[in-house]
This record gives sequence, structure tokens and C-alpha cells, in this order.
Amino acid sequence: MVRISIPTLPPPPLIPLINPLSSLTLKEAASHTASFLQRGKGKTLVVTGAGISVDSGIRAYRGDDGRYTNPNYRPVYYSELVDPSEKGEDFRKRYWSRGYLGWPPVRDAQPNPLHYSLAATMWLGLAKEIITQNVDGLHDKASPYTPEETKRRILHLHGSLHLVHCKNGHVVPRDEFQEVLTKLNPSWKSFAEEAFATGTQPRTNPDGDVDLQGVSYDSFKVPTCKECDAIMKPNVVFFGESISEEVKNRAFKAVEASSQLLILGTSLATYSAFRMIKQALSSVPPKPILLISTGPSRADGLEGLEKIEMEAGPVLKLALEGLARGVVEKGDPVLKRLRESGVVKRPMGDD
Ligand SMILES: [Zn+2]
Repeated sequence: MVRISIPTLPPPPLIPLINPLSSLTLKEAASHTASFLQRGKGKTLVVTGAGISVDSGIRAYRGDDGRYTNPNYRPVYYSELVDPSEKGEDFRKRYWSRGYLGWPPVRDAQPNPLHYSLAATMWLGLAKEIITQNVDGLHDKASPYTPEETKRRILHLHGSLHLVHCKNGHVVPRDEFQEVLTKLNPSWKSFAEEAFATGTQPRTNPDGDVDLQGVSYDSFKVPTCKECDAIMKPNVVFFGESISEEVKNRAFKAVEASSQLLILGTSLATYSAFRMIKQALSSVPPKPILLISTGPSRADGLEGLEKIEMEAGPVLKLALEGLARGVVEKGDPVLKRLRESGVVKRPMGDD
């Protein structure tokens, strides 16, 4: 059983590691990434984390120095959320009142150019699948494939905020659940509207939770499952909760079938992600890994892992320019759209 625990990073080494890729220019980094993708022969597995959604307005847990961007952040644990006692009900009030305010920004977030570049990487046949730690659904929004094909190509390691379910398998879309919350809590609706109108929305964490201080959750009404009256929870893996065997096996098989890993925007602090690195590096022969991310990561210094310490977006976009040239000349409209799409909207309050 693997449980998600609050991620921690090991302390930095006393002697800084020598990274041969640390002094590359953007052009050199792009050219290195392009060669890496070509060597993968279409079997590169892409792994992404919170860093790639920051340009879509969703704040990462960690800043460039590896520290939590919100030092007061204390997530609700799985055992607390599903605790049937009154104490559990208090946690559910806290979680869903904050989640009520945190959902609209996640729902409305749009893919940034990097999400589209990764979609283009698949479209060009350079990668087959993306495994993401993000629960924001932005890879799905950028996908050029049918919903069924998108499900085959994008694995949500930690679930998705777009669905809510009970333990008996009754699932409702998050938007529908949001409407029920609105009906039960009209004063929170006014609070949310006023905050939106005055631009004073609380900051949203990547799991859809918000920072809310000096507000009482006591009066917040939390609905149970309309089919069976059980406790509802979002379809995301909470701290202290296990990843399902199905998802775990699919991730294992994806690493096994891949020729190499391209990892973007993550410190690999959660074990579920780090385990894929260990699996790739202990394969015979070891599968090469290229990590493009800013800030320290749990995998820094591992033999067989290369790291480009840059924002992944511009590197991949430039890398694709060369890789896509032949296809663009043939006038592929999907590829053209993927290469021109994406909006950059940094999180509120970040400079
Ligand atoms: Zn139910």
C-alpha cells in the first residue's frame, strides 16, 4: 500500500552537484530536448507536475527554492474527510466551504502554451502518453483527441477535481455538486460573488482549496450522496489516501513500455511520482530521464538523470519548432492550432 504523505524534500547536498546542463542557453536547451525526443523513437513517457500549471493561474505548492509558497498550508487528510463523526463533519465543512470558492478558478483555467506543446509532442508521434500529478484537467482541455482517446493518453496519478464521488461509486460532475452547494449555502454564493466583483478572491491552492482566514465554516451545509446518503469526496487522492491499484498498475506499465522519461515542472516530492523515476533508472538497461524544472528536486544528482534548470514552456516550444517543421510544411491544421494556442495568466498576487 502506498499512501500519499505530505511531501518533503531532502536537505540540499553540502557540496553543490555538478550539472553539465546547468549553463545551457535557451537555444541549446531546446536543441538538447529535441535530440532527446528524437532518440525516444515515439516511446517517450511525459510526466508533469504543478509547475506546468502556474502559467494557467494555478499556483504551485512550492516556489523556486523548494519551499511551500504558502507556509500556512495544512491540507485536510483523507481520514478526516471521511470520518463519520461530528469532528469529521467539521473537516468536511472546512473543506467544502473553501473548495466552493476554490472551484471556479480551476474550472475556468485555460491550458497554457506548454500544455499545447505537450499535446503537439503526442500529435507528432514523439510521445504516446502523459502521466500528470495535476488534478486541474488542463492536459485534457488541450488534447486534440476524442474524449476516449484522451483518457487512454492522459493518466491522472492523483485524480481529478472535475468529479465528486461517494464510497459506493456514485459519481457526479463537480459543476453539478457546486450547484447543490450553492442552493444549500446562499450566503456563500453572495460572498463568492462579492469577492469576485471586488477582486478580493482568496488565493487558490493547486488542489482547489483556498486560503480563508477569519471566516467561520460552522453554518456551511455539506450534502451527502443523493443516491445512498454516503459522504461525498472529490475524485482526488488526499494526503493519507492510497492510489488505486488500477492507476498504480497503469503507471507501472506505462514506464515499462516507454523508452525514456521526459519530466516537467515537478520537484518529484511525492513518492508516487518518484517511484516512476526509480523504476525507469533500475530497468535493464536503465531508461534515460530528462527533467526540465526550476528549483530543487528529489531526483537531483541521481545517475542517469539529466536536468535542465529552466522553465519548461519556452524550452519545449522552441524544441518543437525544429521537430514540427516538416509536418507544418505539409499543412497539418491540428498541429498549427496546437502550436499557436495557449494563454499565459499567472496566479493573482504573484509578481
Ligand atoms: Zn452514493
